[in-house]
Amino acid sequence: MSGAPPKPLETIERKSLLYRSGLGFDCINHVLGCSHGCRYPCYAFLMARHHGRVRDYAEWCRPRIVGNALALLDRELERKRVLPDEVHLCLTTDPFMVGHPEVGVMSLAIVERLNRSGIPVSVLSKGILPEELADRRRFPADNTHGISLVSLDEGFRREWEPGAALYAERIAAGRRTLVHIEPYPTPAVFEQDLEAILAEVAFADHIYFSGWNYSPRVRRDNATEAFYHRQSRVVERFCAKHGIDYQGE
Ligand code: SF4
Repeated sequence: MSGAPPKPLETIERKSLLYRSGLGFDCINHVLGCSHGCRYPCYAFLMARHHGRVRDYAEWCRPRIVGNALALLDRELERKRVLPDEVHLCLTTDPFMVGHPEVGVMSLAIVERLNRSGIPVSVLSKGILPEELADRRRFPADNTHGISLVSLDEGFRREWEPGAALYAERIAAGRRTLVHIEPYPTPAVFEQDLEAILAEVAFADHIYFSGWNYSPRVRRDNATEAFYHRQSRVVERFCAKHGIDYQGE
């Protein structure tokens, strides 16, 4: 990112923050929208538009931060009789959004607050994970730090993840634990070598692999399922060889 410094983000107020997602884990999304503007398309964008929270893609790419997020989190943690085992940041936005440092500042404050209550956090980003996350005095819980990475090709990134961090910078900052390879493109979308991507992330403790959904560009027919089955086995074998935990299709 270059040019003039970004304008401060608009804020919104919410009535609640911490919630159990339909996927069965606890989440916090303290921003509405995401300037990374992924065009797979982004499922969170489709849902936000469907529910009238944003009008269109342009509005989605102008994120608004939840101004009362930390106050809500304090209140919700104090009221909970049973605390979550782990909280995920984020399911419907990105906690370390490129060009919006105030999002990262709030994400770190949320991780810190949760860790203070003994709750570990799993973060997943297409931005650049900040070094501060490694500070065990500030973040004492066993947090999981994840990067999302489906290619090494910057041309692919510019087309499909136009606002996200450069792959090399993402990898350099993500040398801790989780790598999330999803949505992995079929050859019809983009031809590439999965083994080359895996070779770059052999440092990971955990790799998650999954296919491409919600787009007419990828029909989930038998041929596609067979492709993803083969690719999953490639990732699985790679993980077994390198002692990495594998999860995927
Ligand atoms: S980084 Fe995640 S939330 Fe942001 S646009 Fe891309 S897929 Fe959607």
